[in-house]
Amino acid sequence: MSTGLFDLAGRTAVVTGCNTGLGRAMALGLAQAGADIVGINRSGSADLGSEVAALGRRYVDLRADLSERGGEQALIDAAAATSGRIDILVNNAGIIRRRAAIDFSESDWDDVMELNLSAVFRLSQAAARRFVAQGRGGKIVNVASMLSFQGGVRVPSYTASKSGVLGLTRALANEWAPLGINVNAIAPGYMDTNNTAELRADAQRNDAILARIPAGRWGSPADLAGAIVFLASDAASYVHGHTLAVDGGWLAR
Ligand code: NAP
Repeated sequence: MSTGLFDLAGRTAVVTGCNTGLGRAMALGLAQAGADIVGINRSGSADLGSEVAALGRRYVDLRADLSERGGEQALIDAAAATSGRIDILVNNAGIIRRRAAIDFSESDWDDVMELNLSAVFRLSQAAARRFVAQGRGGKIVNVASMLSFQGGVRVPSYTASKSGVLGLTRALANEWAPLGINVNAIAPGYMDTNNTAELRADAQRNDAILARIPAGRWGSPADLAGAIVFLASDAASYVHGHTLAVDGGWLAR
């Protein structure tokens, strides 16, 4: 197999929520494989632009609160205007709210569903329209979760949203595979980011989680680089509607 299959030179990848955590690591992985990066971020990152530049790639930072409806097509078109095209969309931005289901507030439900699921649909739709107009197909990679497969505890809206992401990934793949658009997802396991800070700070939960991970450690954001490059590349051209777990073996347990 030629490594050229994984070469992203000349491609432009749009990555949401890449100022930190998993999004940042995936943006760097894609840049390392040759892609220029357009970040769609609510807040800035001090050094992502310079790190992408150090890899010989271009980084453009667009700002948006993706919970706000209505600006998606303009955002995707602005991203495409930076290099004349987009080839890859990574729907990474996401939030979590932890509280017992019986006390869960309407806003903890709505805020999570809006960003983690509804915004993913809106941006995917905008990107697909762009891919069709460009006439070269494209790649969409959504960020799912272990809670796309499992119920979780004290995170009802997160589980609902990430289970929805898995279903949406399949639904969009079915409609868009004939258009040359690959829609897939990555389901990260328990990764060391802001999103899991509360869990890692709870010694009991931390130990229980670690004891259940066959690899014996929390994932690091860089562990996603191989999976994102694969799904964004020609190597995955016949992969449609799949959610790929990168979880240290958690789901195998
Ligand atoms: P993180 O460090 O909290 O990063 C989340 C990103 O989403 C940040 O860039 C954040 O921007 C952005 N974001 C939040 N609200 C936004 C909004 N309204 N509009 C635009 N951007 C917004 O978390 P992470 O762990 O890297 O999570 C990234 C993705 O992986 C999420 O979808 C998460 O659910 C998923 N995931 C994480 C894990 C894990 O173990 N860490 C496991 C499975 C799935 P700001 O910095 O401006 O808030």
